[in-house]
Amino acid sequence: MFDMTPNILRNFFHKSSTRLYPKETRQAFGNARGELYNEIEACIFCRTCARKCPSQCITVDTKEATWQCDPFVCVYCGVCVENCPKKCLHQKNDYRKPVTDKEIIFMKGETKKKKCEGDPQET
Ligand code: SF4
Ligand code: SF4
Repeated sequence: MFDMTPNILRNFFHKSSTRLYPKETRQAFGNARGELYNEIEACIFCRTCARKCPSQCITVDTKEATWQCDPFVCVYCGVCVENCPKKCLHQKNDYRKPVTDKEIIFMKGETKKKKCEGDPQET
C-alpha cells in the first residue's frame, strides 16, 4: 500500500492520460487519410476507382452519372485516389466522426454528353 502512495497522489494531481472521446478528439496527423470526397464536376465516371478498390466499396454508374462509396467498408488505403485519372478524388485530412446511422456517400454529377460528328466545335 505504501509503495503505491506516490502513484496515487500523482494521479490525483496529474492531467488525465485519456481523452473524453468524442467530446475531445485527437488532432489528425499531417498525412492522415480520412473520408473520401469527390469533386463531382470533374469526375468522368470512368469506374477506375471502383475497379482498383481492394474492398469494392465504390459504385459508379456511368449512365446515371452517380458515384457512391460505403465508408464503413473502405479501408482508407488511398488506391482509388492514386489511380483517378482526373485527380478529382481526395481524402480528407481528418478522422471520421462517430455516427449513429450507416450513411453511404452518394454524389450525382452531370451526364457527360458524347461528342458526335457534326456537333458544333467548342470555341
Ligand atoms: S476514377 Fe476518378 S474520374 Fe473515374 S469514376 Fe472514379 S472519381 Fe470519377
Ligand atoms: S481508400 Fe481504398 S478502400 Fe477506400 S474506397 Fe479508396 S481504394 Fe477503396
